[in-house]
Amino acid sequence: MSIRLGSIEAGGTKFVCAVGDENYQIQDMISFPTTTPQATLQQAINFFSQFPDLAAISVASFGPIEIRPHSPQYGYITNTPKAGWQNVDFIGPLKTAFNLPIVWTTDVNGSAYGEFILAPEALQSLVYYTIGTGVGAGIVTNGDFAGAIGHPEAGHIRVKRHPADLDFAGICPYHGDCLEGLVSGPTFEARTGHPGKEVPLSDPVWDIMAFYVAQAALNTTLMLRPQRIIFGGGVVSEPFLQKVRSEFQILLNDYVAIGDLTQYITMPVAANNGSATIGNFALALRAVTK
Ligand code: ZN
Repeated sequence: MSIRLGSIEAGGTKFVCAVGDENYQIQDMISFPTTTPQATLQQAINFFSQFPDLAAISVASFGPIEIRPHSPQYGYITNTPKAGWQNVDFIGPLKTAFNLPIVWTTDVNGSAYGEFILAPEALQSLVYYTIGTGVGAGIVTNGDFAGAIGHPEAGHIRVKRHPADLDFAGICPYHGDCLEGLVSGPTFEARTGHPGKEVPLSDPVWDIMAFYVAQAALNTTLMLRPQRIIFGGGVVSEPFLQKVRSEFQILLNDYVAIGDLTQYITMPVAANNGSATIGNFALALRAVTK
C-alpha cells in the first residue's frame, strides 16, 4: 500500500507544494508566489486538503526559523529580512488544519536531505550549499541535521579576501564581506553592474568567486570531514565548480584525503532544483515510520 506524503518548499519568492509516495514519486504539485503569510499558508492548506489520506507533511522553509522543540516559538519564521514574515507561526496553522506529523526544517536542510537520499551510494554525511540570492548550507551527519540551539548559518562564515577584490565591501547587511556578502547572486550586479547570467565564465570575477567558494569547501572539509560537498543554486554550474576544485586543491594541499575530487565537490543529483521536495518526502516518511 502506498503512503501519501506532503512537501512544502517555502521560499522567499515562491512556495512549491507537492504530494508523493514512499518511493518519492511526485503525484501532484503546485507552485505559487509568496505573498502575505496568511494568504500563502492558506493556499498550501487548500492544496493539501484535497488529499484526505495524507500521512505527514514536511516543510523546508526560508529562515531563520525556530527549530528548538521546547521553544514557545517552535515552528516560527523568526527575524527574516522578508517583509511581513517576521515572527510568523508557520506550523501552527498547519497543525490546526491537519492532525498529522509535521516536520519542520530549513530549505537547505531539505535539499541536503534530498541529496543524502538520492546519492548513488549510501552516505553517512554530506554538506549541501546553495549559492543563489543568498548563501546557506545544510549539514547531514550520521543521517541527522547539525544544529542544536539553532540551525547552522554557514553562508555567513568569514573567508580570506582575494587580493584583486579588496575594493569590494561585500553586500551582507549584517557582515559586509562574509561568504554570502561576497558570492551570492546579487554580488555580480554589485561588482560588475551586470547580472551573473550576463557575466561570461572568462571574466576574472568568476575566479574571485571560486577562490571564496573553495575556502568554504576547505573549511567545511576541515571542520566536518563529510563524504561529499554539494553546491547548488543559480550561481553554480559544472564549469564554475571546476574552478572551485582547482582552488580547493591548492588550499587543501593534500593535507587530508578526500577521495576523488570530482565526486567530492559536486553538483546536485536532483534535476530542476528538486532536492528539497525529495528531502521533504523522505523526512515525512521518516516521521511516519519512526
Ligand atoms: Zn553575512
